Amino acid sequence: MDEKCGVVGVALSERESARPLYYALYALQHRGQESAGIVTHDGFQQHSHLGMGLVGDAFDAADLERLAGSVGIGHVRYPTAGSVDASCAQPFSVSFKSGSLGLSHNGNLVNAGAAREELAELGHAFTSDGDTEVIAHALARNLLEGDLVDAVADTMSRLHGSYSLTIAHDDTVMGLRDPEGNRPLCLGELDDGYAVASESAAIDALGGELVRDVRPGELVVLAPDGSGYECHQLVERDRTAHCFFEHVYFARPDSTIDGRLVYDTRRELGRKLWAESGVETDVILPVPDSGRAFASGYAAAAGEASADVSFAEGLMKNRYVGRTFIMPTQDERERAVRLKLNPIKSTVEGKTVTLIDDSIVRGTTSSQLVGLLREAGASAVHLRIGSPPIVAPCYMGIDMASREELVAADRTPTEIGELIDADSLAYLSRAAIADALGASRADLCLGCVTGEYPYDIEGEATDREVVGPTAASASASADD
Ligand code: AMP
Repeated sequence: MDEKCGVVGVALSERESARPLYYALYALQHRGQESAGIVTHDGFQQHSHLGMGLVGDAFDAADLERLAGSVGIGHVRYPTAGSVDASCAQPFSVSFKSGSLGLSHNGNLVNAGAAREELAELGHAFTSDGDTEVIAHALARNLLEGDLVDAVADTMSRLHGSYSLTIAHDDTVMGLRDPEGNRPLCLGELDDGYAVASESAAIDALGGELVRDVRPGELVVLAPDGSGYECHQLVERDRTAHCFFEHVYFARPDSTIDGRLVYDTRRELGRKLWAESGVETDVILPVPDSGRAFASGYAAAAGEASADVSFAEGLMKNRYVGRTFIMPTQDERERAVRLKLNPIKSTVEGKTVTLIDDSIVRGTTSSQLVGLLREAGASAVHLRIGSPPIVAPCYMGIDMASREELVAADRTPTEIGELIDADSLAYLSRAAIADALGASRADLCLGCVTGEYPYDIEGEATDREVVGPTAASASASADD
């Protein structure tokens, strides 16, 4: 099950943790709007509240009041197709012989099925079909046998895939990032404690300072009294598999991920887009909000090359319409785009326009927008996209539609340009992505733009020699 989510955990010395967690979840709201939850611990027992919808809808003042304790974790969950179900809300919590456990997960295990079977054979009963429960049971089992750090290390050796986790074992809160560092996770220092969160924007919201990213394969254990933290590098790999799409689309522009401010990366990608495929036009328009930073970089580079280009906010966004992906049918999605964005006629009438967005998935947004701009009187509409064509699904936790739905899965950029009726269409190269991220392509997960994944996924190609348990080998290791 895809989990495209936001996670947080805090340990404070003087305050209750529920409100800071609630604020942090607000800062991570873009990472998930289906459900929100908080689990706290007051030194004696665990408290939990889960609710459907946005953070503001999932909690009221009385819920926060009941969440006693100065340590806790939180979660926001992204709506994935067909599963609007309270049983999937997180943090997942269980009580077992050696205490209570709460888990918030961002990512997706590739071997969840095999690991679940293995645990079921050992007598574990599951209440949901999510892979977070698999991690919780594996960890609970290991905690019966070893100390905390060993138990986490042993659990990691059974997992294959993407996971950034915040974990509460009684009053000990931890952050754990998978060995390839696929999803982001960072550590922050607050006035009266420490926090781990998916994005640094959540640390900012708490008035804290980003300490650093949690390293791939690293466990960070926060002291329950908020006085410090311990780090354990549990697994070390030669290569990482950071998701480039976090930087392109998913994360907030004001977050710093793996040492890079997302806004700067997007502007740099915009500059590269101009360098690779700039086209002379009267106006450069961003698709709000996803194309904004790209367009500002593109326009800056275009402005340096020619004085005769203007940058305009020619499409106005209705901020009360949610992400178009929440619409279940294609027809509804098409209507949603028109509801969401409206052109300002005077900025485009009689002009040649370059429209800039971060990505094309199904092609719905761009084809609608090209139509809207033509109706508003644009004499030509060029489209420039700040990422390579998305040709394959994401198995690592980003809801990217299936192969059949992806417009670039079996079409060339020229064919897509014709389909969406643009005068020209150009995407950014893979090399430009790696360059802007200051990473080697070998250290990025580019699965959705190459069709080759850094993990062992049934029926898909991999771009590396896979280390650790694979989808097939996990059940075999049950006999160990
Ligand atoms: P589409 O209309 O299907 O081509 O989707 C492209 C638009 O959706 C762009 O404006 C992107 O910024 C945005 N987008 C890209 N990936 C996602 C995603 N995984 N979830 C929601 N929106 C996305």
